[in-house]
Amino acid sequence: MEIILYDEGIAGELDIEEIAQYLAQKMGKIKVEVRGNPFVFNLPQDKVSDFARRIAGTKIQGVSQKILSGQEPLYGEIEYEKRRILGKTRSFGILYEGFHLLRLFREIVPREECSLEFVHIFFTNRLFTSWDESDKRYHLRTSVYGIPSLISTTGLVEAPAKPREYYLLKQQYDMVGTDPLELKDRFKGRFIDYEDERLTEVMKGYVMQAIFYSLTGNPFCQDKGCRLYNAHWHEELIFAQLESGYEFCQRHSELLKKELS
Ligand SMILES: [Zn+2]
Repeated sequence: MEIILYDEGIAGELDIEEIAQYLAQKMGKIKVEVRGNPFVFNLPQDKVSDFARRIAGTKIQGVSQKILSGQEPLYGEIEYEKRRILGKTRSFGILYEGFHLLRLFREIVPREECSLEFVHIFFTNRLFTSWDESDKRYHLRTSVYGIPSLISTTGLVEAPAKPREYYLLKQQYDMVGTDPLELKDRFKGRFIDYEDERLTEVMKGYVMQAIFYSLTGNPFCQDKGCRLYNAHWHEELIFAQLESGYEFCQRHSELLKKELS
């Protein structure tokens, strides 16, 4: 097995070198490589336009409007994605279909490395979603796992729910027009925010989920204190990643030990 980390335009929000060091420590002899921008690595110059068009085609139009893969985007959307591939702009306010994006990014993974023996992890600040058949709408996601796995720095802030009291107070604040920064101050520490100093530490758990996906087909754990816990609330993710007092439950610690021996 080999783990390869990519920086898909995260603009320094995350310390990828620190994550690589953590993995080198955790994963024994398994090779860890930091590859930087995945487009520079494996997208020929003459394919940029076509790829930009197809990335733009994974944009969702509305949270309750299911998209088909390969929809035709507008000219401006394609131009935007081209600039983004070339590292000339940042992503904001655009929602993508996470699994369509994953399948598309698979095409820029070198063919000889397209197997579960290689764990390709794309850190991105794109915000992506997945369709939920039960309530027929798209939900924001922090990560989608596969070849490659995508982990979103903006998704980590936006996808998990904030404490219930936050939403209640936000309604009140909105009504009287109080400064939203004051609200954020009141909840400081209780959710992961943009430019949060805990981001890199928290992300290590998501990277381990991607690795367990490759190892066992299941990235998640039921144990609320295990880094593989599939948190839907910020308070759950802070507990699982930072506060539980252990990294992995006994079962996953043993699984890891067995895989590495
Ligand atoms: Zn576990």
